[in-house]
This record gives sequence, C-alpha cells and structure tokens, in this order.
Amino acid sequence: MAKILLVEDEEKLARFVELELTHEGYQVDKAFDGRTGLDMAESGKHDLILLDIMLPGLNGLEVLRRLRRSSHTPVIMLTARDAVMDKVTGLDTGADDYVTKPFSIEELLARIRAALRKNAGDGGADSQLFCGDLTMDAARRRVERAGREIELTGREFALLKYFLENKTYVLTREQLLEKVWGYEYLGETNVVDVYVRYLRNKIDEDHDKKLLHTVRGVGYVLKEET
Ligand code: CA
Repeated sequence: MAKILLVEDEEKLARFVELELTHEGYQVDKAFDGRTGLDMAESGKHDLILLDIMLPGLNGLEVLRRLRRSSHTPVIMLTARDAVMDKVTGLDTGADDYVTKPFSIEELLARIRAALRKNAGDGGADSQLFCGDLTMDAARRRVERAGREIELTGREFALLKYFLENKTYVLTREQLLEKVWGYEYLGETNVVDVYVRYLRNKIDEDHDKKLLHTVRGVGYVLKEET
C-alpha cells in the first residue's frame, strides 16, 4: 500500500488525517515542522507528500522548492482558504495539486487517489480531471464521487468531461451543444437541459455539496460550492 508523508504542524489535524489515511490502508509518516518534513521527504521512501504551507522552521513552499531539486514525488499542498498566491506559487514550484482548508476527508482521499494514479502513469497526466471530490480518469472512462463509481452514458461522459475541462467557467447551452454534440447551434438547446438534468441526478444526488449549478439566463457551471 502507498506510503504517505504528512507535514502538518497542527497536531490535532495531523492525527485526524493520519487516522483516516491509516483506515484507508495507507502507511503514514508525520512531521510537525518544515525542516524535519524536508529531511523525511528527501529519504525518497514516500509515494506521496501532503504538505502544509504555514509551517515552523521552513515553510511549505520552501520545503517544496528544495525538495524539487532532487525529487519528483507527488506533492499535494494544504492551503488556507483564499490564499490564492500560495496556490499559484505552489503549483509553479512543482506541487501536483492542492486542497483548501478546511477540507473534507473525502475530497482529500479523492485527490490522493488521483495523484497516485497520475504518478503511476496510468493514462497520462491529461486524463485525470477533478472537481471537489469528483474525479474522472478519462483514459479509463471512470468517474467517481467520494470514492464511489458513477455509471455514465457516452454523452453524459462527454458532457461531464467538457465541464471538468472548463470548471468554474459558466458555459452557455450553445457552447455545450457545439462542443459536446459537435454541431452548430440550430435553435434547439433543450437537449442540453435534458442531459444536464441526467448528469446532475447522477453526480449531485445524495451529496450535500452540489457541483453542477444553473446560472439563470446564461447556462451552467461546474464548481465547488463556497
Ligand atoms: Ca500550519
């Protein structure tokens, strides 16, 4: 089973995450400060690193910068809400992904699975798409939400893939019709509404946090609720 290094100075949070990861069958090592975290990360024993940004000693971005000189181990940054600069800097520095605190454990687990699969080279980097705890492995045509597989028809899959590739952007019916159905807008966009409804039933039903939203008078957007 995969070995994960967790670098996080909030001990309560670290223990909670460790418990959940262990429960999922991962082996977990913990470090509570940046310098120890970097030493442990450089050992190369881990399949994935969860790295907090605000850390005593060395901050997470500095740990990542130094680690990337010698290691390509996937790193998921744990960032504070609205710390946009940290996210951008983290991704520029070589982080594979980030989750924003406070995160749900389901979301974290989904990101971990996606990062590990991506690193294993299954299907290539571009085939992994996600929004919140929803993940799509495009090469394997596999969709999961909170770890549970969702069965989609060919058209629903294509529609969801286009939403994922353009997440947080409001997409008009005309746009969706042209990109997903592949023909020019002919005045009949009801088909889009019908398929969005099918898709919504499959991905958002039974979940408190909705991902597929209607923007009145404009179209639809796939994004995490804030
Ligand atoms: Ca911290």
